[in-house]
Amino acid sequence: KTRNGHEPEFIQAVQEVAETVIPYIAKNKIYSGKNILLRMVEPERLISFRVAWVDDDGQIHVNRGYRIQMNSAIGPYKGGLRFHSSVNASILKFLAFEQVFKNSLTTLPMGGGKGGSDFDPKGKSDDEVMRFCHAFMVELCRHIGPNTDVPAGDIGVGSREIGFLFGMYKKIRNEFTGVLTGKGRSWGGSLIRPEATGYGTVYFAQSMLQTQGQDFSGKSVVISGSGNVAQYAAEKALQLGAKVLTLSDSQGYVYDKDGIDAEKLAYVMDLKNNKRKRISEYVKKYPSATFHEGKTPWEVVCDIALPCATQNELDGKSASTLIKNGCICVAEGANMPSTPEAIHEFHAAKLLFAPGKASNAGGVATSGLEMSQNSLRISWTREKVDDMLKNIMEDIHDSCIEYGKEKDGFCNYVKGANIAGFVKVADAMLAQGVI
Ligand code: NDP
Repeated sequence: KTRNGHEPEFIQAVQEVAETVIPYIAKNKIYSGKNILLRMVEPERLISFRVAWVDDDGQIHVNRGYRIQMNSAIGPYKGGLRFHSSVNASILKFLAFEQVFKNSLTTLPMGGGKGGSDFDPKGKSDDEVMRFCHAFMVELCRHIGPNTDVPAGDIGVGSREIGFLFGMYKKIRNEFTGVLTGKGRSWGGSLIRPEATGYGTVYFAQSMLQTQGQDFSGKSVVISGSGNVAQYAAEKALQLGAKVLTLSDSQGYVYDKDGIDAEKLAYVMDLKNNKRKRISEYVKKYPSATFHEGKTPWEVVCDIALPCATQNELDGKSASTLIKNGCICVAEGANMPSTPEAIHEFHAAKLLFAPGKASNAGGVATSGLEMSQNSLRISWTREKVDDMLKNIMEDIHDSCIEYGKEKDGFCNYVKGANIAGFVKVADAMLAQGVI
């Protein structure tokens, strides 16, 4: 805390892991006295750089770029880039720390990293976004590579941004390699990667529900966000027979009592991905729906809640409301969307609760599959990648049960995910010595 006390999100993420992992270390002598956790919380490398770019009116802007290379014990650094005005070292360190455990859980050989910038693509022209991405990559390219560090997308970084970033990397390095994931289909991308985080979150929730003899069919689902993760979580929930009631963005949420069906979801995808407009537009197109400005959707009665927007978007009070309204399952599509108070409420109520590092790991897992396809120079079918994704999510679920099941049969998925993720990285660090 003395070293990182000014970084609240990072402290929060570390605390959640420490609470479950420290007792495990105490019981397992091979990890005791090695200061493993202390080594894990210090990034191997933290890079911060100037990104200067010119807007459409000829004005010069300066943003701050980052790459946090957190842990490479089990593979090259891997983790997304976030472009959002809130980005700072604390947020990226929390994300990079979570990523180490998440990537370990996927069973694929990937270390953990994260990066991004306080640049906000909202309201910028395509040309401005391109100039920014190019300027960002001019610096980043010297720190990454297909065997060193392989970034991907995150909030504010989708297929458009990955395209611009990849183009500049290729030009500077004069090589066509799988240095980024989330690429377009015709230039090295993998089928199912765009869908993977949202689909994976629903697959994980389905596995949790099955432990209680339940599934998505006929259930009402409340989703926050309306970006990549939210859109595909909604799509998979619909395919499994659920009724999706809400989507949101940073201005508020839409509630559609008739359900957001496949046709309405296609409208949302076009609205957000092509027209880049606000979710409030939804009620103009579908007047029976309502828009709730400045609110989060957790007040809507539901069976399943999927927070898919951003960190700390679901607090203790919202958790109590969900529980009071009969919600039985919460699976995080976003990273750390539930506050510690909310997690406490969920655990006290013995509700099925999945932390993002387990339930949203499908995205990075499929990025790992994109890396494999790039190395082999082949492209797998949609069915094959989807099957592999499903299997990985089931394996992660099994690992959580193995380390998280308590004496009364309740599974603490937070504990399970943290310990399962920790063991693999810690074993590799022990084998490699003090470096
Ligand atoms: P997108 O940029 O596609 O969408 C983000 C969504 O969250 C938008 O609807 C956005 O609304 C909303 N949002 C962002 N910030 C806030 C905020 N402060 N308050 C309320 N809403 C907000 O990002 P993704 O869908 O890719 O990412 C969503 C979450 O999932 C993040 O936590 C990310 O780290 C996590 N994640 C993403 C993965 C991926 O593969 N993309 C993989 C694993 C985790 P608005 O447009 O108004 O900003």
